[in-house]
Amino acid sequence: MIRKNHKGIFIVISGPSGAGKGTVCKELIKTSENLWLSVSMTTREPRDGETNGVEYFFVSKEEFQKQIDEGNLLEYAIIHSNHYYGTPKALISEYLNVGIDVILEIDINGALQIKENNKEALFIFILPPSMEELKNRLIKRGTETKEKIIERFKRGYQEINEITKYNYVVVNDELDKAVDKVKAIITAERCRVDRIEEVFLNNSEEVIHEKLISNKTFNNTDITID
Ligand code: ADP
Ligand code: 5GP
Repeated sequence: MIRKNHKGIFIVISGPSGAGKGTVCKELIKTSENLWLSVSMTTREPRDGETNGVEYFFVSKEEFQKQIDEGNLLEYAIIHSNHYYGTPKALISEYLNVGIDVILEIDINGALQIKENNKEALFIFILPPSMEELKNRLIKRGTETKEKIIERFKRGYQEINEITKYNYVVVNDELDKAVDKVKAIITAERCRVDRIEEVFLNNSEEVIHEKLISNKTFNNTDITID
């Protein structure tokens, strides 16, 4: 009776630096099936413990420019300290076409570029419980200098102003709860009426009509939902 759209959901997650986007996404991937986290390309230096091809593809500015020129990026933006960040096109539509949901963890500028060409994408904004906690998390992470933390913190304020461009907001206070909320949003999204490809009413109309005129009772098998 109902044929669902078997394409994966294109999910964009943004939020101020230090809100916990990376932590939430890692946990989501660990505890969900059918979900792929895209690996972005960046010109920023790898942090201690980051591996090329895992957190990011770390490339030079020249290499990044080459990727732009060859049209290999779905979107890109120049963010903290003039570093380039971008989403490689490769693999995204392959995953979506076989029904795997794809997550991009990108900034607001990139999110708006995606929105322009993907009206059906899902936009989730991750907020810290407070700006004080955001500052504490950036300091505790210990991956940036004091100047860079201030730069990221200021940018955080600007990014929060853009929150209305997103469909959902999740406050990352307790990690498990935040992850559960994102999972619930994805589940709800799968049930949206506008993600249904086709509804077949003919057969069920005939069954209902036939049962009504013959005054018979309905069985579970009379109307099916795929
Ligand atoms: P982002 O990807 O948004 O820049 P991270 O995922 O790197 O943020 O998280 C920033 C810091 O905050 C990390 O040290 C991380 O361990 C910590 N963190 C993330 N989520 C929480 C949370 N719910 N409670 C406390 N600390 C958290
Ligand atoms: P970080 O340097 O902390 O890893 O990331 C800094 C910012 O870059 C974050 O806001 C993150 O969401 C954003 N970012 C990461 N990858 C991409 C990308 O591919 N495109 C865009 N536009 N932003 C990205």
